[in-house]
Amino acid sequence: MAEGWVDERDKAILDTIYYCENCNMVLEPGDTDIERHRRDLPNHKLRKVLIVRCGHCGNIVTDSYAQYSPQLNRFWCKNCLSDKTNHREFYGDPRDDDLEI
Ligand SMILES: [Zn+2]
Ligand SMILES: [Zn+2]
Repeated sequence: MAEGWVDERDKAILDTIYYCENCNMVLEPGDTDIERHRRDLPNHKLRKVLIVRCGHCGNIVTDSYAQYSPQLNRFWCKNCLSDKTNHREFYGDPRDDDLEI
């Protein structure tokens, strides 16, 4: 694997936000709610959410709705990956055809 692909991947990330599963709310970096959670609510489950742009259709999606390909160095949204032809192009291996996404 090529070195620095994590750096390359980071460049594809537009933004990072947090989602609290207990409060059911989104916390943006710099938000006082994040501080409050770190200080007073350590048992709340904060999930890191990456905001990425789909390299195929250009839609802005969260990382749970996208897959990253180190070969293409791109995130693609699940919408694009649900297309079989796209799917093959993305993963580059026809044997992965029956892979669940
Ligand atoms: Zn919370
Ligand atoms: Zn897409």
